[in-house]
Parts: sequence; structure tokens; C-alpha cells
Amino acid sequence: MNELQCKVLVLGGGPGGYIAGIRAGQLGLDTILVEGGKLGGCCLNVGCIPSKAFIHTANEYDLIKRYSEGSETGISTAPPTIALAKTVAWKDDIVSRLNTGVAGLLKKAKVRVVEGWGEMRDGKTCVVKTSNGETRIKAEHVILATGSTSVELPDLPFGDKVVSSTEMLSLTEVPKKLAVVGGGYIGLELGIAFRKLGSDVTIVEATDGILPLYDRELTKPVKDRMDNLKIRVMLETFAKGLDDKGNLRVETLSGEASSIEADKILVTVGRAPRTNGWGLDNMDLAMDGKFIRIDQRCHTSMRNVWAIGDVTGEPMLAHRAMAQGEMVAEIIAGENRSWDKVCIPAVCFTDPEVVSAGMSEAEAKAAGHEVITAQFPYKANGRAMTMEDESGFVRIVARKDNHLVLGLQAVGGEVSELSAQFALALEMGARLEDIGGTIHAHPTKSEAVQEAALKALGHALHI
Ligand code: FAD
Repeated sequence: MNELQCKVLVLGGGPGGYIAGIRAGQLGLDTILVEGGKLGGCCLNVGCIPSKAFIHTANEYDLIKRYSEGSETGISTAPPTIALAKTVAWKDDIVSRLNTGVAGLLKKAKVRVVEGWGEMRDGKTCVVKTSNGETRIKAEHVILATGSTSVELPDLPFGDKVVSSTEMLSLTEVPKKLAVVGGGYIGLELGIAFRKLGSDVTIVEATDGILPLYDRELTKPVKDRMDNLKIRVMLETFAKGLDDKGNLRVETLSGEASSIEADKILVTVGRAPRTNGWGLDNMDLAMDGKFIRIDQRCHTSMRNVWAIGDVTGEPMLAHRAMAQGEMVAEIIAGENRSWDKVCIPAVCFTDPEVVSAGMSEAEAKAAGHEVITAQFPYKANGRAMTMEDESGFVRIVARKDNHLVLGLQAVGGEVSELSAQFALALEMGARLEDIGGTIHAHPTKSEAVQEAALKALGHALHI
């Protein structure tokens, strides 16, 4: 057996693991990263990046289609066509360029990458099955970054017809009829994209609203757009398996049963931390339910064993994993760091997009704050009008006594780009006066953030 030693072993090369590896390497720590699949993990290969490539394609297609039906902008064109196999090839090329980029960054940081599935034998030893046999790696520090996998429903096992987001993002033909089980952000992002590409889409959601993590006011413009796109949404409805014709059997809360005709059934009912198959049982790790328990420094219950990313809890987002990875590498290198983030912004790349950072009004009240909440609509924003998208608004939640901003939310076209401004305001402890007093370039959609702050102060200028 091949034997290797290092200061830091990173198990898993997703956004959490590869960032931990790069930062550890930059800090001069002798680091080995073990990856059994592809560098970049879920996010780069089958998650964030591929889904956004599809969403971009669908949006462009939809825009051309709308222009072909007549547009006030004066543009007219022939109806578009789509060759999904080409879209997939284009998406695969982006993924492959980014894979190469990550490999290059790890190399530059002098991180050794061992390709193969690793199994922890104890808190310091990992045995990796590589193409050349087994390699045993001994490390002083281990960073567990094994990520997550799509949740499979027992009544709807994944196969040719029932697929997870991974298979959906490699389809080379647009399904005629698509049923989506789960109305969270992944289901809606893909459901809306495939509707725009021509599928007849039905969304089946168990709770009483789409995007159940967000408040109704924030999700209403998305629901309106879905209605406009003729996406059927069945709320308080549960998927029950396939009927004898292979269609999706569903049942409502009140017990009404029916079948939904579908060529593909996309199941997006959440992600589960990957705690199997890498030797968790050989370790003595405390768990928090299904996740690995970590403290404020991402340290587990075992000495010098750290855990980051989706395997450690919600929100399962790439930027959380990356921030944790960077922090842990710095702690191992001796820096005094701990998790002191005020917010992890969350974005749904739906149509329109939804972004949320910090507390909602309800959360702020539940935390005992007396709050001022103000909202500025995009229909009063000049830039939104010139972009043919006046849907949505920006909302700001602040403490009533000292005007400290507690949360920012927005829904509208391309508001994902506001997420950094929101997070920065919260991290820097901005007050309403700071945002209201900052000159925002005109005409931009970000002016709605300034206007929301001014409105909270009682003197919005454009409404
Ligand atoms: P992962 O990315 O899951 O990486 C874990 C890696 O570990 C994998 O490469 C795996 O092969 C490897 N591994 C596991 N076990 C072993 C082992 N035993 N040996 C060797 N290697 C191993 N998040 C966002 O922030 N924004 C988005 O827009 C977004 N869109 C998404 C869209 C979809 C369709 C999906 C499915 C997810 C999306 N996410 C998004 C979530 C995001 O992909 C994850 O939060 C992120 O990838 C988590 O990073 P991670 O490093 O914890 O784990």
C-alpha cells in the first residue's frame, strides 16, 4: 500500500473542501485533498453552475420568444428553436473549464490531490482507493467536506423517468410533460427554466406555499410569474408513487387522489448530508441529528478533526461551505478565527429572483426587536422600467430605536446582484441613515435599496 503523510487532509473537493485546500496551501501547510468524483463537487459539476447555465439559456429563449410575439421595444424576430444537446455541451464546457481552473489553483497552492474515494479508518488515517491501488494517508488535521446528495423518496426511486436535479441538468431533450415534486428553490429554478424551454410543468408541493422558507409577500411575484407562464402548482399535495401507466400519483391533504401525466418526474425534496461510505462509523463524532456537530470554529467533537459545508448543516449553500473552508485552514495555521458572520445571504434564481439576507420582519420581532419595515417597489424604479421588468420590490427591516439594519430582502429581475450589498450592510452594522445617505448610481436597480431605507426614515424620494 502506498503511504503518504501530511499536515492537513481534506476529504472532499467541493466548494468547502477545495477552498480549505487552497487556503491551507497558501498558508504553507502541507496539504492533501482527496476527491472521489470531480473537483468542484456538487456546486460546480451538478449544482450552482450547471443550473444557472440552464436558467440563462431558458431566459434568453423566453425573451426571444416574447420578442417574436411582438414587443414594445420595437424588436421583432422569428420564434426561437432550442437544441438542448448543444446547451448541455456548452454547459459541460463551462464545467470542464472551471474543473481545470480549480485543479490549477490547488496546484498553484502546492496541494497534492489524490483521486479516489477515501475512507477514514480513525481520526487521523484515511485509506483511498485510487486507480493504482490503495493509498494510506496519515494527517495531523482532517477536514471533512463530504457534502450532500439528493434525497430520494422511497415511493419514487430514481431511475430513467424519476430523476434528481443531477440527471435533469444533462437532459438532451426537453420533456413534453414535466412533474416537479418539491417547490423549494431547486425545484422552482429548474421547473421555471424547463417551462420556458417548452415543457408543460406541474409542481407538487406538500406545504401551503412555494418557496416555503420565505414569506408570502416575497414569493408572490414568483407565483404571479409562474401563473403567467401557465405552470400548474398543486399545494398541500403529496407524491405517492407511480400509477400503472407510469404517471405520478398524488394525494391532497384532504385525501383527494389523482394522477399527473409526466414524461419526466423531477424530485427535489431536499439534500441529505453525505455521512455514509467514508468511514463515519470508524470515528467517534458527535452528531447534530443527521449532520456532523461542529462548534463556532467548525471543530468536531474529535481532536483536530474539522467539518465544513453541507455535511455540517443548513443552510446548505456553496458560499457558506467556502467561508467555513477558508476559516478552518486559517485556524489550523494558527490564526485566531471563529464563525462571526452576521448573515449568509440566500438567493433563489427563479423568475423573478429572490434574495434574502439577515432577518425577516417576523424573525426580528421573534428575536424581541421593535422594528421599522419599509418596502420600495420596482414599478417606481426607472432602470426596472427600461429593463422591461417592473415586478418586485426591495424591503428593509431595521431596529426602531437605533435604526440598525437587521435584514434586507428583495424580489425582482436580477436582484441576486444585490446580495453582496445586503450582506455588506449587515456585516458592517449599517444603519438606515448609512444606506439612505449613500449615493447610489442612477439609473440602477440598487437605487431601490436606498429608497427603501429613506422610506423607513419617512422620506422616500420617488414614491
Ligand atoms: P459538495 O459540493 O457536495 O462536495 C463534496 C465533495 O466531496 C464531492 O465532490 C464528493 O465527490 C466528495 N466526496 C464525498 N465523499 C468522499 C469520499 N469518501 N472520498 C472522496 N471524495 C468524497 N448553492 C449555492 O450557494 N448557490 C446556488 O445557486 C446553488 N444551486 C444549486 C443547484 C442545485 C441543482 C443543487 C443540487 C445545489 C445547489 N447549491 C447551490 C448547493 C451547493 O451545490 C452546495 O451547498 C455545495 O456544493 C456544498 O459544498 P460542499 O463542499 O459542502 O459539498
